[in-house]
Amino acid sequence: MQCPLLYRYRVIDKLPEPASPAAARGTLVHTALERIFDLPAEQRTPEATIGLLPEQWDQLVAQEPELAALCDGDEGVPDLTKWLADAGDLVQRWFTLENPMFLEPAERELYVEAECEGLTLRGYVDRLDVAPDGRLRVVDYKTGRSPSELFEGKALFQMKFYALVLWRTRGVIPTMLQLVYLKDAQILRYEPVEAELVATERKMQALWAAIEVAARNGDWRPKKSRLCSFCHHQDVCPEFGGTPPPLPDDALERALNPPSRRAAADGAHQLVPAPTQVKAAAETS
Ligand code: SF4
Repeated sequence: MQCPLLYRYRVIDKLPEPASPAAARGTLVHTALERIFDLPAEQRTPEATIGLLPEQWDQLVAQEPELAALCDGDEGVPDLTKWLADAGDLVQRWFTLENPMFLEPAERELYVEAECEGLTLRGYVDRLDVAPDGRLRVVDYKTGRSPSELFEGKALFQMKFYALVLWRTRGVIPTMLQLVYLKDAQILRYEPVEAELVATERKMQALWAAIEVAARNGDWRPKKSRLCSFCHHQDVCPEFGGTPPPLPDDALERALNPPSRRAAADGAHQLVPAPTQVKAAAETS
């Protein structure tokens, strides 16, 4: 929860946000990288993967028609050909990093969920590779650039979250966490240890406690950061001279029971209360 007010706007007020080209392209590319493994290994070529893009895009637009505006060729907006070509470039870059002909994922788009001391942690893992000896490798695709050293820890937090959930559900700590950055063709690898996953669990508990306090007090303060440049709610943010709308009557209920959702792309992870707990929930993506 980088900004409590943004959490409120997304989870409680559910203020609409325009479709994000980066998120939509990310979803498209993720889908192609998932579907290519439906083909026999020898057919998993760059051409075959890029060939999946038009049909996958049509399906995404059928589900969310407003996405079509992201590549309608209007002022400053790419046309469909350019849109698909840009997605194709990301796919091409993936082939410089990994070769799906020699990979047999155990799972793709794997929904994971685990109860950790009263909270339910859940998320979607892009790919899970399992070695013959049982070692796990968690792979997540990112369509953006790799982070600088300063921000590597933040990027890895999501992966440690997945590792924690897998550890809790399978009893095995993943050997390798692997972030694949397609924009600049980089791979970030990390070998987690038990103490870090325990620390991740504690952070989740602390985050949840902070959200519960904010929800019970109705105190959703803005927290200015680099994130503000990407925030669509500056007009109702006090940091930018705006005034937040009144809290809905059922704000507490909404804050503590957000519906499960899959983020558009590039990973999603959530924590919610275990069924036996008082209603409460938090989203960390
Ligand atoms: S503009 Fe910044 S401080 Fe305001 S709600 Fe958005 S992220 Fe938070």
